[in-house]
Amino acid sequence: MSARESWTGTLAWNPARPDTVIISCVDGRWRPHLLEFAMMRLGVGPNGDFMAVPGGVEPLTLLDLIPKDFNFFRRRLDALVEAHGTKRIVLVAHQDCAWYKSRKFGPITIDVKERQIKDLKRAEKYLRETFPGTTVESWYARHDETLGAKVVFDPV
Ligand SMILES: [Zn+2]
Repeated sequence: MSARESWTGTLAWNPARPDTVIISCVDGRWRPHLLEFAMMRLGVGPNGDFMAVPGGVEPLTLLDLIPKDFNFFRRRLDALVEAHGTKRIVLVAHQDCAWYKSRKFGPITIDVKERQIKDLKRAEKYLRETFPGTTVESWYARHDETLGAKVVFDPV
């Protein structure tokens, strides 16, 4: 088979618009866990909308600091909510996020998790005001070594 040959999948196309968007970081190590969480806990099937950039929801907290990042993300989310009639927005942050760890937030000893939770709350507030017809919820994903390195999603 040539690399330039078309490929046909086995799944039937489903034209139904999903009513949930999950906003998360791109880190692929977390993706299988995120997809399982979406399906088993949130009831969001494989056709749920996902928006992912490094750091997840962080651009939505940058209106004052880096407005171009804020606007890039906000414009695309606006368009998605408009086109899909989104009813539910789910924000997910994860432990040891490289994006957050690489950002300089002033004091060197910043608690990354604390910052992520603060950002989730700030983004939640913005999203509730901007999209009053949606519900917004936040989660924080972490390893739990006591559970055999399983991933736990805590409500925030
Ligand atoms: Zn990350």
